[in-house]
Amino acid sequence: MKKTLSATQILQDVFQYTTFQSQQKEVIEHLAQGSNALVIMATGSGKSLCYQVPTLMRSGVGIIISPLIALMHDQVKQLQQHHIKAAFLHSDLPKEQVESIESKLLMGQIKLLYISPERIFNAHFFYILTQIPIALFAIDEAHCISEWGHHFRPEYTKLSILNQKFPTIPKIALTATADQDTQRDIIHQLNLEPVSIFKGSLKRHNISYQVLEKIDEKKQLLAFLKNQPAHHSGIIYCFSRKKVDTITHWLIQRNINALSYHAGLSTQARQQAYLTFQSDKSSVMVATIAFGMGIHKSNIRFVGHLDIPRSLEAYHQETGRAGRDGKPAIAWMLYHPDNALLYHKHLISNADQVSRLHIEQKKLLLMTAWCETGICRQQALLAYFNEWSSQSCQQCDRCKTPIPLMNITDLTRQALSNIYRSQQKATLTDAINILQGKQTSTIVDQSYQTLSTFGIGQSQTAIQWQVIHWQLILFSYVKIHGEQQNQLGLTAWSKKLLQSNIPFLIPVNLYSKTIHQYALATHILTFTEEMLILWKKLREYRDDVAHNNSFIHQMMHDRILQDIWQHRPTSLRKMARIPGLGPKKIEQHGKQIIEIIIQHHQQYAIHTTSAL
Ligand code: ADP
Repeated sequence: MKKTLSATQILQDVFQYTTFQSQQKEVIEHLAQGSNALVIMATGSGKSLCYQVPTLMRSGVGIIISPLIALMHDQVKQLQQHHIKAAFLHSDLPKEQVESIESKLLMGQIKLLYISPERIFNAHFFYILTQIPIALFAIDEAHCISEWGHHFRPEYTKLSILNQKFPTIPKIALTATADQDTQRDIIHQLNLEPVSIFKGSLKRHNISYQVLEKIDEKKQLLAFLKNQPAHHSGIIYCFSRKKVDTITHWLIQRNINALSYHAGLSTQARQQAYLTFQSDKSSVMVATIAFGMGIHKSNIRFVGHLDIPRSLEAYHQETGRAGRDGKPAIAWMLYHPDNALLYHKHLISNADQVSRLHIEQKKLLLMTAWCETGICRQQALLAYFNEWSSQSCQQCDRCKTPIPLMNITDLTRQALSNIYRSQQKATLTDAINILQGKQTSTIVDQSYQTLSTFGIGQSQTAIQWQVIHWQLILFSYVKIHGEQQNQLGLTAWSKKLLQSNIPFLIPVNLYSKTIHQYALATHILTFTEEMLILWKKLREYRDDVAHNNSFIHQMMHDRILQDIWQHRPTSLRKMARIPGLGPKKIEQHGKQIIEIIIQHHQQYAIHTTSAL
């Protein structure tokens, strides 16, 4: 009879490691017993062993669903080096290879199979799954299943079928970052209950976070790179492909060994750049976020951002690629509030669903709130992920060069008390209106004017209250909840702030600095389906015309179109007040655009509200 090996024996005999890291052992034993798990552990903390070892402890095949083809290839290669029968299956493989893997599966010659989410739903393959013994299902990058996550992939939502078809097979969902909403959604969609959640610390001791005000990005980047030891390599993230190419070119001209990587390059060019970077030649990889998923290079010494990342989840993941060897590494970013505004316009331009847009807006605002926080960046980042850290890191820009701060503890208490008294049902706008004593229709409808907090915050402007609330949300003292994610609620941490003597500090200049992007916050959560539909109609008109006229995009780029959309002019006279729309453009397109707006208003029974 075949002897079953223990987790430790497999770790040592098969993988040749001496001890388990973080919570690996607990997860492995939990799964080996046939229970479900959700594992949230930072990149590089050894999540793969959490499903590889229990697969070897159980009979049957371990099926690992992973969206990253490069990662699948790497993992399978490594497993084969350990003499484990592993294979991968994804849509890029030739038919013969797929057939060969399928027959090996049926003959019991594969122990671990990595498969892409779209491939698993192939009817023939799904039938095969029902014919073979299965040890477990692992769903890697599980945050992709959730609309609340930062990399939502619609095809992942179909994975709920796994539980219907294989209810008794243990399942493990793994991700490096997932906020509370995302965790809940993963468990719900994969039907993991009963489930144990294993959460490792997201703290990266060896990363020092540096955020600088963006003044002249090229000059600042060059100075940063020149400051790094010659043999160090790193990644510099840019928002667009065009910018990646421009920056790479510019750096090469200045004798920096820079490479470009983005989805617009040929597969061969990307592969070449990847291999050059992967080899230990010192280099700077200038890239869009298309680069980095599944990269196995432990000595990346810096990760820079020339543009604001879309969320703190994305930021943690991207900067997490630095210093995986445990040696000191830098997460460097240039930040300007205008960047957030530009990014916000991009979000609107590409929005398809209001609910998704709200989530992305919220994440972007919290990213800006983090950039502007006055205290230790690591503490703030961990707090966002609900991890309490009493020690400041002593290595970020805020710890090393403190800036003038002011104590707003009393104001935060007013804000928290207001949320409590409005029974956690008020939206951000309502909460601010209550504090400022404004008698809006909602305030009157909900009798909020009777609350003891009504009018207590008149010393602050609405924007200042926005700043305070977003900082509180960043630090997980307040959450946004409710079906539409627009009500303010208290958290397990709110009490901590109310009852302890922890001061709440923000930069002295935060109020004046953030006027712009907090104006953006007024959009957030008040953005409706109707607004998005009008935007789509205007964009459709512009794109139709652009199809016949290659200059139209230049004439009416997104910025002008957004102004039209925001102000909704219903006459040529009003339209003329939109900056950047000259008489010629108005003559050519004015009537048609006005017609679209008027018809849209009729459809939604909207009375003209244009401020123009
Ligand atoms: P993650 O999926 O969490 O990003 P990986 O599973 O890719 O992390 O593991 C990161 C690295 O740590 C890999 O090189 C892996 O071989 C190594 N590793 C994992 N577990 C252990 C362990 N118990 N002891 C030593 N090294 C380990």
